[in-house]
Amino acid sequence: MSESTVLSPPQKALIKLGLTRDIDLALHLPLRYEDETRIVKLRDAREGDTAQIEATVTSCEISHRPRRQLVVTVDDGSDTCVLRFFSFYPSQQKALAVGARLRIRGELKGGFLGWQMVHPTFKPAGGALPSALTPIYSTVASLPQAYLRKAVLGALSRADLSDTLAPGASPPALWSLGQSLHFLHQPKPDVPLGSLEDRRHPAWQRLKAEELLAQQLSQLQSKRERDTLRSPKLLAQHQGLHEQLLAVLPFKLTRAQQRVSEEIARDLGRIVPMHRLLQGDVGSGKTVVAAFAAAIAIDAGWQCALMAPTEILAEQHFRKLIGWLEPLLAPRGLRVAWLTGSQKKKERTQMLGLVAGGEAALVVGTHAVIQDQVQFKKLGLAVIDEQHRFGVAQRLALRAKMTEPGQEPHLLMMSATPIPRTLAMSYYADLDVSTIDELPPGRTPVVTKLIADSRRDEVTERIRGQVAMGRQVYWVCPLIEESEALDLSNATATHEALSQALPGVMVGLLHSRMPVGEKKAVMSLFTSGQMGVLVSTTVIEVGVDVPNASLMVIEHAERFGLSQLHQLRGRVGRGAAASACVLLYSPGQSGRLGETARERLKAMAQTADGFEIARRDLEIRGPGEFLGARQSGAPLLRFADLTTDTDLLEWARKLAPMMLDRHPELSRLHMARWLGGKSEYLKA
Ligand code: ADP
Ligand code: MG
Repeated sequence: MSESTVLSPPQKALIKLGLTRDIDLALHLPLRYEDETRIVKLRDAREGDTAQIEATVTSCEISHRPRRQLVVTVDDGSDTCVLRFFSFYPSQQKALAVGARLRIRGELKGGFLGWQMVHPTFKPAGGALPSALTPIYSTVASLPQAYLRKAVLGALSRADLSDTLAPGASPPALWSLGQSLHFLHQPKPDVPLGSLEDRRHPAWQRLKAEELLAQQLSQLQSKRERDTLRSPKLLAQHQGLHEQLLAVLPFKLTRAQQRVSEEIARDLGRIVPMHRLLQGDVGSGKTVVAAFAAAIAIDAGWQCALMAPTEILAEQHFRKLIGWLEPLLAPRGLRVAWLTGSQKKKERTQMLGLVAGGEAALVVGTHAVIQDQVQFKKLGLAVIDEQHRFGVAQRLALRAKMTEPGQEPHLLMMSATPIPRTLAMSYYADLDVSTIDELPPGRTPVVTKLIADSRRDEVTERIRGQVAMGRQVYWVCPLIEESEALDLSNATATHEALSQALPGVMVGLLHSRMPVGEKKAVMSLFTSGQMGVLVSTTVIEVGVDVPNASLMVIEHAERFGLSQLHQLRGRVGRGAAASACVLLYSPGQSGRLGETARERLKAMAQTADGFEIARRDLEIRGPGEFLGARQSGAPLLRFADLTTDTDLLEWARKLAPMMLDRHPELSRLHMARWLGGKSEYLKA
């Protein structure tokens, strides 16, 4: 390696942070600003201020109470202030010697004993004061602020910041990109802090609008690329398999199920690949809609694959679909096949044969469905349940199972986590969305209660009552093993305690580290009704369907996301029995549950509407929860906030098609500027 290629630690840090191009640095905006333009007098300061003072050291000594620390007293002529350092070097101690005159900066705390600062920064007094606010960037230890600041300013002067918006795009903010970036990186002396931090300022508006536009362009472009691919035309036959399926179902479809089935059937009948997300709250009946789509594909002479994230879920689908479809398929010499990782070799070989030969009209399974050895004869439709649990690569692998070049199977993705509208419009802009907004009739609403962990015994009594009535109970724990750091009770301990407290009741345990065979055995005891109580970690989160379960207890509910709690709660209230969900919470160390945590849990008790809950989750936790694996590695929005910037999103959404149609070169430049090489991730 030649010497010139050896990178310094700050250079390495820049690469690690993805700040490689000038434009990347220019778009790395300050986290906040510090006001180093003024020296304040202690007399005029207020509690909590981050203040800069100039003062003389009047005493400097090491104290050992309550722990070893350097205690320095300074006087600025108006008042005194005590500086405390819990770690310090001899050189610092020297610089803080009695008589030294220093410029000191830190957060002021009051109290009975006068002003204090803990670990303030300091340097010799005097020297010029900066004329403008100082930007502070997000960085890492090996990349000092001063180095980064210089790198940013250099990049800002070199980067091409010319306008990439189409002429006449009428941006929502009149400021240009260059103006906005210079304003935020290099505040002018007279610019007040408020306007730099105000995200409604034209500079911020411009950046957010541009960012959203890049995202919309990239998604629209990948949608258009996909539209050039071809899929088989799967036309629903009159009196075909899907109508026969309707006749054998033990229930009538809800209006919402009918509507989404029609939307899907319409897509299947076209030669462009379907790319549709079917969303519907837990228990809304998505499986049967998938079965309809499968029936249409099979009728047209093609195979359908259904992939689920866990074996338990895949098996449940398998049973249901076999029950519904196999009697209809058998007369045609067709079957439903089953593929999982835990399968015996012999069975697997047999299944692979059925898939390759085309006899398996429907193939249900886990990730095993996308493995190399699996070869379909004619894959026409791929269904992915709980799509957010799969990664980009897995989705691409399933789509690649189509044998003819340039062809793709139709793709139906299902999710029980409803995606708020703004997210659907941004991250999922390349998807068509169908929504089941109605539950099947006869469901009883689940009553949700917030109960302190100290009242566990009462909850156990309640379980006893439910089991005595022949009902079943889920008990969900957030962790499998004891963790020293977090005092969370674990599934194993809870399982033991409940087994002791409930003699004569079969209490089972299910957690993600158990071997698959054991998991299945436990699950089948619960499904068949022999097991009264099932203690588990979140493995039951997705899709499990036991209508006789009427009570769910969630331990340490404060550790879960709202949407996750809602999913869990959806496991009860599936039958006619009155059902309840108990959210057990542990008051925090300070003796009470944090205010926001309580508010969150209260929201759970107040609403059963998955969309409303998802909206609140988005507000509280940001979009990461919803995107899951879909966006791993892809840029999340840095500047725009989907809960407040809906008008900017609308603007970007309208502009994107026009830009791609009439200004392909500007579109390309814009995407390259904002997304760099990352836009590939958005395509799957
Ligand atoms: P999810 O949307 O959560 O995947 P499922 O497909 O598992 O929901 O359906 C939940 C339960 O509701 C299943 O037992 C299913 O058979 C039943 N179901 C589905 N549609 C209807 C309907 N229209 N009427 C009555 N029960 C239905
Ligand atoms: Mg489901």
